[in-house]
Amino acid sequence: MSKDFKFETKQLHSGQVVDSETNSRALPIYQTTSYVFDNPEHGANLFGLSEAGNIYTRITNPTTAALETRIADLEGGTAGLAVASGMAAITYAVQGVADSGDHIISTTSLYGGTHTLFTHTLKKFGIDATLVNTKNPDDVSREIKDNTKAIFVETIGNPEGNIEDLEALAKIAQDNGIVLIVDNTFATPYLCRPIEHGANIVVHSATKFLGGHGTSIGGIIVDGGNFDWKNGKYPGMSEPDNSYHGLVFADTFGDQAFAYKVRTTLLRDTGAAISPFNSFLLTQGVETLSLRMERHVENAQKVAEYLSQHEKVEWVDFAGLQDSPYKSLQEKYLPKGAGSIFTFGVKGGYEAGKKFIEALELFSLLANVGDAKSLVVHPASTTHSQLTEEQQVEGGVKPETVRLSVGLEHIDDIIEDINKGLDAI
Ligand SMILES: *Cc1c(COP(=O)(O)O)cnc(C)c1O
Repeated sequence: MSKDFKFETKQLHSGQVVDSETNSRALPIYQTTSYVFDNPEHGANLFGLSEAGNIYTRITNPTTAALETRIADLEGGTAGLAVASGMAAITYAVQGVADSGDHIISTTSLYGGTHTLFTHTLKKFGIDATLVNTKNPDDVSREIKDNTKAIFVETIGNPEGNIEDLEALAKIAQDNGIVLIVDNTFATPYLCRPIEHGANIVVHSATKFLGGHGTSIGGIIVDGGNFDWKNGKYPGMSEPDNSYHGLVFADTFGDQAFAYKVRTTLLRDTGAAISPFNSFLLTQGVETLSLRMERHVENAQKVAEYLSQHEKVEWVDFAGLQDSPYKSLQEKYLPKGAGSIFTFGVKGGYEAGKKFIEALELFSLLANVGDAKSLVVHPASTTHSQLTEEQQVEGGVKPETVRLSVGLEHIDDIIEDINKGLDAI
Protein backbone atom coordinates (compact mmCIF):
# COMPACT_ATOMS: atom_id res chain seq x y z
CA MET A 1 0.00 0.00 0.00
CA SER A 2 1.17 3.52 -0.80
CA LYS A 3 3.45 4.87 1.92
CA ASP A 4 1.70 8.20 1.53
CA PHE A 5 -1.48 7.12 3.26
CA LYS A 6 -1.94 8.25 6.85
CA PHE A 7 -2.05 5.86 9.80
CA GLU A 8 -5.86 5.91 10.01
CA THR A 9 -6.13 4.90 6.36
CA LYS A 10 -3.49 2.19 6.54
CA GLN A 11 -5.10 0.59 9.58
CA LEU A 12 -8.18 -0.07 7.41
CA HIS A 13 -6.62 -1.02 4.10
CA SER A 14 -2.99 -2.18 4.30
CA GLY A 15 -2.46 -5.79 3.37
CA GLN A 16 -5.91 -6.46 1.95
CA VAL A 17 -6.62 -6.59 -1.75
CA VAL A 18 -10.31 -7.13 -2.50
CA ASP A 19 -10.67 -10.80 -3.40
CA SER A 20 -11.27 -10.94 -7.16
CA GLU A 21 -13.30 -14.18 -7.01
CA THR A 22 -15.97 -12.89 -4.61
CA ASN A 23 -15.45 -9.09 -4.32
CA SER A 24 -15.80 -9.55 -0.56
CA ARG A 25 -15.19 -6.19 1.13
CA ALA A 26 -14.43 -7.67 4.56
CA LEU A 27 -11.26 -9.72 4.94
CA PRO A 28 -12.13 -13.34 4.07
CA ILE A 29 -11.27 -16.02 6.63
CA TYR A 30 -9.24 -18.60 4.74
CA GLN A 31 -9.93 -21.44 7.14
CA THR A 32 -7.82 -23.99 5.30
CA THR A 33 -4.82 -26.08 6.22
CA SER A 34 -3.38 -26.42 2.73
CA TYR A 35 -3.36 -25.09 -0.84
CA VAL A 36 -3.55 -26.89 -4.17
CA PHE A 37 -0.36 -26.89 -6.28
CA ASP A 38 -0.85 -26.10 -9.99
CA ASN A 39 1.44 -29.03 -10.84
CA PRO A 40 4.38 -30.90 -9.28
CA GLU A 41 6.90 -28.30 -10.47
CA HIS A 42 4.89 -25.51 -8.80
CA GLY A 43 4.93 -27.51 -5.55
CA ALA A 44 8.68 -28.05 -5.82
CA ASN A 45 9.31 -24.34 -6.39
CA LEU A 46 7.20 -23.36 -3.38
CA PHE A 47 9.02 -25.83 -1.15
CA GLY A 48 12.40 -24.58 -2.36
CA LEU A 49 11.42 -20.92 -1.77
CA SER A 50 12.21 -20.14 -5.40
CA GLU A 51 8.57 -19.07 -5.91
CA ALA A 52 6.30 -17.30 -3.42
CA GLY A 53 2.97 -18.88 -2.53
CA ASN A 54 0.98 -20.82 0.02
CA ILE A 55 1.80 -24.40 0.96
CA TYR A 56 0.41 -25.05 4.42
CA THR A 57 -1.14 -22.75 7.06
CA ARG A 58 1.57 -23.46 9.62
CA ILE A 59 3.81 -21.32 7.39
CA THR A 60 1.54 -18.92 5.49
CA ASN A 61 -2.17 -18.12 5.23
CA PRO A 62 -3.87 -15.31 3.24
CA THR A 63 -5.95 -14.02 6.20
CA THR A 64 -2.86 -13.99 8.38
CA ALA A 65 -0.87 -12.33 5.58
CA ALA A 66 -3.25 -9.34 5.68
CA LEU A 67 -2.60 -8.93 9.40
CA GLU A 68 1.15 -9.27 8.88
CA THR A 69 1.34 -6.67 6.14
CA ARG A 70 -0.95 -4.29 7.99
CA ILE A 71 1.08 -4.27 11.21
CA ALA A 72 4.38 -4.11 9.32
CA ASP A 73 3.05 -1.10 7.42
CA LEU A 74 1.79 0.63 10.58
CA GLU A 75 5.16 0.06 12.30
CA GLY A 76 7.15 1.24 9.28
CA GLY A 77 8.80 -2.16 8.83
CA THR A 78 9.38 -4.25 5.71
CA ALA A 79 7.62 -7.51 6.64
CA GLY A 80 5.54 -9.03 9.41
CA LEU A 81 5.23 -12.53 10.81
CA ALA A 82 2.15 -13.37 12.87
CA VAL A 83 2.34 -16.27 15.32
CA ALA A 84 0.19 -17.93 17.96
CA SER A 85 0.96 -15.57 20.85
CA GLY A 86 3.06 -12.67 22.00
CA MET A 87 5.34 -15.10 23.84
CA ALA A 88 5.89 -17.08 20.63
CA ALA A 89 6.78 -13.82 18.85
CA ILE A 90 9.32 -12.94 21.54
CA THR A 91 10.78 -16.45 21.62
CA TYR A 92 11.19 -16.53 17.83
CA ALA A 93 12.59 -13.01 17.63
CA VAL A 94 15.31 -13.95 20.10
CA GLN A 95 15.96 -17.40 18.64
CA GLY A 96 16.17 -15.79 15.21
CA VAL A 97 19.28 -13.88 16.27
CA ALA A 98 20.75 -15.94 19.14
CA ASP A 99 21.85 -19.59 19.05
CA SER A 100 22.96 -21.83 21.88
CA GLY A 101 26.11 -20.24 23.33
CA ASP A 102 24.93 -16.70 22.59
CA HIS A 103 23.89 -13.94 24.96
CA ILE A 104 21.29 -11.18 25.06
CA ILE A 105 20.82 -8.12 27.25
CA SER A 106 17.45 -7.06 28.55
CA THR A 107 15.92 -5.02 31.30
CA THR A 108 14.69 -5.78 34.81
CA SER A 109 11.33 -4.12 34.05
CA LEU A 110 9.73 -6.77 31.83
CA TYR A 111 6.45 -8.52 31.20
CA GLY A 112 6.35 -11.48 33.64
CA GLY A 113 6.35 -14.16 30.93
CA THR A 114 9.28 -12.55 29.14
CA HIS A 115 11.16 -12.37 32.42
CA THR A 116 10.84 -16.12 33.03
CA LEU A 117 11.55 -16.87 29.35
CA PHE A 118 14.85 -14.99 29.59
CA THR A 119 15.92 -16.10 33.07
CA HIS A 120 14.79 -19.75 32.94
CA THR A 121 13.56 -21.24 29.68
CA LEU A 122 16.01 -19.81 27.14
CA LYS A 123 18.91 -20.63 29.50
CA LYS A 124 17.98 -24.30 29.12
CA PHE A 125 18.47 -23.87 25.37
CA GLY A 126 21.88 -22.29 25.93
CA ILE A 127 20.89 -18.66 25.40
CA ASP A 128 22.04 -16.56 28.31
CA ALA A 129 20.40 -13.28 29.31
CA THR A 130 21.69 -10.46 31.48
CA LEU A 131 18.96 -8.21 32.86
CA VAL A 132 20.09 -4.70 33.70
CA ASN A 133 18.39 -1.53 34.80
CA THR A 134 18.24 0.42 31.53
CA LYS A 135 17.67 3.83 33.15
CA ASN A 136 21.33 4.48 32.49
CA PRO A 137 22.05 3.17 28.97
CA ASP A 138 25.80 3.01 29.76
CA ASP A 139 24.99 0.10 32.05
CA VAL A 140 23.82 -1.74 28.95
CA SER A 141 27.07 -1.03 27.08
CA ARG A 142 29.05 -2.45 29.94
CA GLU A 143 27.31 -5.83 29.67
CA ILE A 144 28.01 -6.37 25.97
CA LYS A 145 30.24 -9.37 25.28
CA ASP A 146 31.59 -10.99 22.12
CA ASN A 147 28.65 -13.38 22.02
CA THR A 148 25.97 -10.73 22.71
CA LYS A 149 23.46 -10.74 19.83
CA ALA A 150 20.60 -8.50 20.94
CA ILE A 151 19.28 -5.87 23.29
CA PHE A 152 15.62 -6.45 24.16
CA VAL A 153 13.39 -3.83 25.81
CA GLU A 154 9.74 -2.81 26.05
CA THR A 155 8.75 0.67 24.85
CA ILE A 156 6.77 1.13 28.05
CA GLY A 157 8.12 -1.18 30.74
CA ASN A 158 5.84 -3.51 32.64
CA PRO A 159 4.83 -2.91 35.38
CA GLU A 160 6.96 0.11 36.24
CA GLY A 161 5.67 2.25 33.39
CA ASN A 162 9.21 3.35 32.59
CA ILE A 163 9.90 4.60 29.07
CA GLU A 164 13.03 3.38 27.32
CA ASP A 165 15.42 5.81 25.68
CA LEU A 166 15.16 3.97 22.36
CA GLU A 167 17.61 6.15 20.44
CA ALA A 168 20.32 5.77 23.09
CA LEU A 169 19.83 1.99 23.07
CA ALA A 170 19.76 1.89 19.25
CA LYS A 171 23.08 3.72 19.17
CA ILE A 172 24.66 1.19 21.55
CA ALA A 173 23.29 -1.66 19.42
CA GLN A 174 24.59 -0.04 16.23
CA ASP A 175 28.02 0.68 17.67
CA ASN A 176 28.31 -3.00 18.57
CA GLY A 177 26.75 -4.42 15.41
CA ILE A 178 23.89 -6.11 17.28
CA VAL A 179 20.12 -5.86 16.94
CA LEU A 180 17.71 -3.87 19.08
CA ILE A 181 14.42 -5.74 19.62
CA VAL A 182 11.52 -3.74 21.06
CA ASP A 183 8.30 -5.13 22.51
CA ASN A 184 5.86 -2.39 21.47
CA THR A 185 2.73 -4.02 22.95
CA PHE A 186 1.88 -1.29 25.48
CA ALA A 187 2.45 1.59 23.06
CA THR A 188 1.11 0.19 19.76
CA PRO A 189 2.37 1.75 16.52
CA TYR A 190 -0.17 4.53 16.98
CA LEU A 191 1.65 5.94 20.01
CA CYS A 192 5.24 4.96 19.12
CA ARG A 193 7.05 3.43 16.14
CA PRO A 194 10.35 2.09 17.49
CA ILE A 195 11.81 1.42 14.02
CA GLU A 196 11.76 5.19 13.39
CA HIS A 197 14.01 5.50 16.46
CA GLY A 198 16.50 2.85 15.34
CA ALA A 199 14.98 -0.45 16.49
CA ASN A 200 15.63 -3.38 14.14
CA ILE A 201 12.89 -5.79 15.16
CA VAL A 202 9.54 -5.01 16.80
CA VAL A 203 7.41 -7.62 18.56
CA HIS A 204 3.84 -7.45 19.78
CA SER A 205 1.39 -9.33 21.85
CA ALA A 206 -1.48 -8.69 19.42
CA THR A 207 -3.66 -10.09 22.18
CA LYS A 208 -3.73 -6.63 23.77
CA PHE A 209 -4.48 -3.29 22.06
CA LEU A 210 -4.05 -4.50 18.46
CA GLY A 211 -6.94 -6.94 18.79
CA GLY A 212 -8.35 -4.63 21.41
CA HIS A 213 -11.38 -6.61 22.53
CA GLY A 214 -9.92 -9.41 24.61
CA THR A 215 -11.04 -12.17 22.24
CA SER A 216 -7.90 -13.70 20.74
CA ILE A 217 -4.31 -14.58 21.58
CA GLY A 218 -1.79 -13.71 18.91
CA GLY A 219 1.67 -12.27 18.38
CA ILE A 220 3.58 -10.56 15.63
CA ILE A 221 7.18 -9.90 14.67
CA VAL A 222 7.99 -6.92 12.45
CA ASP A 223 11.22 -6.86 10.47
CA GLY A 224 12.65 -3.33 10.43
CA GLY A 225 14.61 -4.17 7.26
CA ASN A 226 17.36 -1.87 8.52
CA PHE A 227 20.04 -4.23 9.79
CA ASP A 228 23.26 -5.38 8.11
CA TRP A 229 23.03 -9.14 8.62
CA LYS A 230 26.35 -9.68 6.86
CA ASN A 231 28.46 -8.02 9.55
CA GLY A 232 29.84 -11.40 10.61
CA LYS A 233 27.79 -11.86 13.78
CA TYR A 234 24.76 -13.66 12.34
CA PRO A 235 25.85 -16.77 10.41
CA GLY A 236 22.25 -18.00 10.33
CA MET A 237 21.42 -15.05 8.10
CA SER A 238 24.63 -14.69 6.11
CA GLU A 239 25.78 -18.29 5.57
CA PRO A 240 24.19 -21.03 3.46
CA ASP A 241 21.22 -22.70 5.16
CA ASN A 242 21.45 -26.48 4.80
CA SER A 243 17.73 -26.95 5.38
CA TYR A 244 17.14 -24.94 2.16
CA HIS A 245 19.79 -26.32 -0.20
CA GLY A 246 22.35 -23.69 0.77
CA LEU A 247 20.12 -20.62 0.40
CA VAL A 248 21.55 -17.46 2.06
CA PHE A 249 18.68 -15.54 3.69
CA ALA A 250 20.39 -12.14 3.68
CA ASP A 251 21.11 -12.45 -0.07
CA THR A 252 17.84 -13.96 -1.22
CA PHE A 253 15.39 -11.91 0.83
CA GLY A 254 17.19 -8.59 1.31
CA ASP A 255 15.38 -6.25 3.68
CA GLN A 256 12.82 -8.95 4.57
CA ALA A 257 15.45 -11.56 5.41
CA PHE A 258 14.73 -11.79 9.12
CA ALA A 259 10.98 -12.32 8.71
CA TYR A 260 11.62 -14.95 6.02
CA LYS A 261 14.18 -16.77 8.09
CA VAL A 262 12.01 -16.98 11.20
CA ARG A 263 8.98 -18.07 9.15
CA THR A 264 10.73 -20.71 7.10
CA THR A 265 12.92 -22.19 9.83
CA LEU A 266 11.64 -21.57 13.39
CA LEU A 267 7.92 -21.39 12.58
CA ARG A 268 8.22 -24.23 10.04
CA ASP A 269 9.97 -26.49 12.54
CA THR A 270 8.44 -25.55 15.90
CA GLY A 271 4.97 -24.56 14.69
CA ALA A 272 3.48 -21.81 16.89
CA ALA A 273 1.12 -20.90 14.03
CA ILE A 274 -1.78 -18.50 14.53
CA SER A 275 -5.29 -19.62 13.57
CA PRO A 276 -6.75 -17.80 10.53
CA PHE A 277 -9.82 -16.99 12.59
CA ASN A 278 -7.69 -15.23 15.21
CA SER A 279 -5.90 -13.35 12.45
CA PHE A 280 -9.29 -12.17 11.21
CA LEU A 281 -10.39 -10.99 14.67
CA LEU A 282 -7.08 -9.24 15.30
CA THR A 283 -7.20 -7.51 11.91
CA GLN A 284 -10.74 -6.41 12.68
CA GLY A 285 -9.46 -4.85 15.89
CA VAL A 286 -6.66 -3.01 14.10
CA GLU A 287 -9.23 -1.22 11.91
CA THR A 288 -10.11 1.03 14.87
CA LEU A 289 -6.73 1.13 16.60
CA SER A 290 -6.15 4.89 16.38
CA LEU A 291 -9.64 5.74 17.64
CA ARG A 292 -9.38 3.36 20.56
CA MET A 293 -5.89 4.50 21.51
CA GLU A 294 -6.94 8.15 21.52
CA ARG A 295 -9.69 7.39 24.02
CA HIS A 296 -7.54 4.95 26.01
CA VAL A 297 -4.85 7.57 26.60
CA GLU A 298 -7.35 10.33 27.32
CA ASN A 299 -9.12 8.22 29.95
CA ALA A 300 -5.87 6.94 31.45
CA GLN A 301 -4.46 10.45 31.75
CA LYS A 302 -7.59 11.57 33.64
CA VAL A 303 -7.56 8.54 35.96
CA ALA A 304 -3.84 8.97 36.71
CA GLU A 305 -4.30 12.67 37.46
CA TYR A 306 -7.28 11.90 39.67
CA LEU A 307 -5.42 9.23 41.63
CA SER A 308 -2.31 11.36 42.04
CA GLN A 309 -4.41 14.04 43.80
CA HIS A 310 -6.19 11.59 46.11
CA GLU A 311 -5.32 11.47 49.81
CA LYS A 312 -5.54 7.67 50.00
CA VAL A 313 -3.03 7.19 47.18
CA GLU A 314 0.66 6.92 48.00
CA TRP A 315 2.15 7.03 44.52
CA VAL A 316 1.25 6.80 40.81
CA ASP A 317 3.73 5.61 38.16
CA PHE A 318 2.44 7.10 34.92
CA ALA A 319 4.74 8.77 32.43
CA GLY A 320 1.99 11.21 31.45
CA LEU A 321 2.12 12.94 34.85
CA GLN A 322 4.12 16.17 35.01
CA ASP A 323 6.25 14.94 37.92
CA SER A 324 7.05 11.56 36.36
CA PRO A 325 10.79 10.96 35.88
CA TYR A 326 9.84 9.66 32.42
CA LYS A 327 7.89 12.74 31.34
CA SER A 328 10.56 14.00 28.94
CA LEU A 329 11.05 10.54 27.38
CA GLN A 330 7.27 10.28 27.01
CA GLU A 331 7.14 13.63 25.22
CA LYS A 332 9.90 12.47 22.88
CA TYR A 333 8.78 8.91 22.11
CA LEU A 334 5.04 8.89 22.88
CA PRO A 335 3.88 12.44 22.16
CA LYS A 336 0.26 11.34 21.69
CA GLY A 337 0.05 9.89 25.20
CA ALA A 338 1.65 7.54 27.70
CA GLY A 339 -0.59 4.54 26.99
CA SER A 340 -3.35 3.36 29.29
CA ILE A 341 -1.67 0.76 31.51
CA PHE A 342 -0.06 1.95 34.71
CA THR A 343 0.46 1.12 38.35
CA PHE A 344 -0.19 2.95 41.57
CA GLY A 345 -0.05 2.24 45.29
CA VAL A 346 -2.67 3.00 47.90
CA LYS A 347 -1.66 3.90 51.44
CA GLY A 348 -1.88 0.86 53.70
CA GLY A 349 0.09 -1.74 51.73
CA TYR A 350 -1.04 -5.19 50.60
CA GLU A 351 -4.33 -5.26 52.57
CA ALA A 352 -5.45 -1.82 51.39
CA GLY A 353 -4.58 -2.74 47.80
CA LYS A 354 -6.70 -5.86 48.11
CA LYS A 355 -9.66 -3.92 49.57
CA PHE A 356 -9.47 -1.45 46.71
CA ILE A 357 -9.60 -4.20 44.09
CA GLU A 358 -12.39 -6.12 45.82
CA ALA A 359 -14.68 -3.06 45.88
CA LEU A 360 -14.42 -2.34 42.13
CA GLU A 361 -17.41 -3.26 39.98
CA LEU A 362 -16.67 -1.94 36.51
CA PHE A 363 -12.99 -2.94 36.44
CA SER A 364 -12.58 -6.67 35.85
CA LEU A 365 -10.01 -8.42 38.03
CA LEU A 366 -8.00 -10.52 35.58
CA ALA A 367 -4.60 -11.08 33.99
CA ASN A 368 -4.79 -9.15 30.74
CA VAL A 369 -4.29 -5.61 29.50
CA GLY A 370 -5.33 -3.57 26.49
CA ASP A 371 -8.97 -4.63 26.36
CA ALA A 372 -11.68 -2.12 25.46
CA LYS A 373 -12.99 -2.84 28.96
CA SER A 374 -11.23 -1.55 32.09
CA LEU A 375 -9.10 -4.15 33.87
CA VAL A 376 -7.30 -4.37 37.19
CA VAL A 377 -4.77 -6.76 38.70
CA HIS A 378 -2.53 -7.15 41.75
CA PRO A 379 0.86 -8.00 40.16
CA ALA A 380 2.66 -9.22 43.31
CA SER A 381 0.20 -12.08 43.80
CA THR A 382 -0.48 -12.89 40.13
CA THR A 383 1.35 -11.74 36.99
CA HIS A 384 4.73 -11.27 38.68
CA SER A 385 4.34 -13.89 41.45
CA GLN A 386 6.92 -16.22 39.83
CA LEU A 387 9.63 -13.62 40.44
CA THR A 388 11.65 -13.59 43.65
CA GLU A 389 10.95 -10.72 46.04
CA GLU A 390 14.22 -9.12 44.96
CA GLN A 391 13.27 -9.40 41.26
CA GLN A 392 9.87 -7.93 42.07
CA VAL A 393 11.48 -4.93 43.72
CA GLU A 394 13.88 -4.51 40.76
CA GLY A 395 10.93 -4.64 38.39
CA GLY A 396 8.92 -2.11 40.41
CA VAL A 397 6.38 -4.56 41.86
CA LYS A 398 5.62 -3.57 45.44
CA PRO A 399 3.20 -5.40 47.79
CA GLU A 400 0.62 -2.61 47.43
CA THR A 401 1.02 -2.16 43.66
CA VAL A 402 -2.25 -2.14 41.73
CA ARG A 403 -2.12 -2.23 37.92
CA LEU A 404 -4.88 -0.66 35.87
CA SER A 405 -5.59 -1.02 32.17
CA VAL A 406 -7.95 1.86 31.60
CA GLY A 407 -10.64 1.04 29.06
CA LEU A 408 -13.07 2.88 26.84
CA GLU A 409 -16.03 3.27 29.21
CA HIS A 410 -17.24 6.82 29.93
CA ILE A 411 -14.68 8.58 32.12
CA ASP A 412 -17.34 9.53 34.72
CA ASP A 413 -18.22 5.87 35.23
CA ILE A 414 -14.56 4.89 35.46
CA ILE A 415 -13.83 7.54 38.10
CA GLU A 416 -16.95 6.57 40.04
CA ASP A 417 -15.74 2.96 40.16
CA ILE A 418 -12.27 4.06 41.30
CA ASN A 419 -13.98 6.03 44.07
CA LYS A 420 -15.85 2.90 45.19
CA GLY A 421 -12.47 1.21 45.56
CA LEU A 422 -10.89 4.09 47.43
CA ASP A 423 -13.90 4.49 49.71
CA ALA A 424 -13.57 0.85 50.75
CA ILE A 425 -10.11 1.42 52.21
C1 LIG B 1 0.79 -9.96 27.04
C2 LIG B 1 2.18 -9.54 26.76
C3 LIG B 1 3.11 -10.44 26.24
C4 LIG B 1 2.76 -11.88 25.96
O1 LIG B 1 1.80 -11.98 24.97
P1 LIG B 1 0.74 -13.22 24.84
O2 LIG B 1 -0.02 -12.84 23.64
O3 LIG B 1 -0.05 -13.24 26.10
O4 LIG B 1 1.58 -14.44 24.68
C5 LIG B 1 4.39 -9.99 25.99
N1 LIG B 1 4.74 -8.72 26.25
C6 LIG B 1 3.88 -7.83 26.76
C7 LIG B 1 4.32 -6.43 27.02
C8 LIG B 1 2.57 -8.20 27.04
O5 LIG B 1 1.71 -7.32 27.55
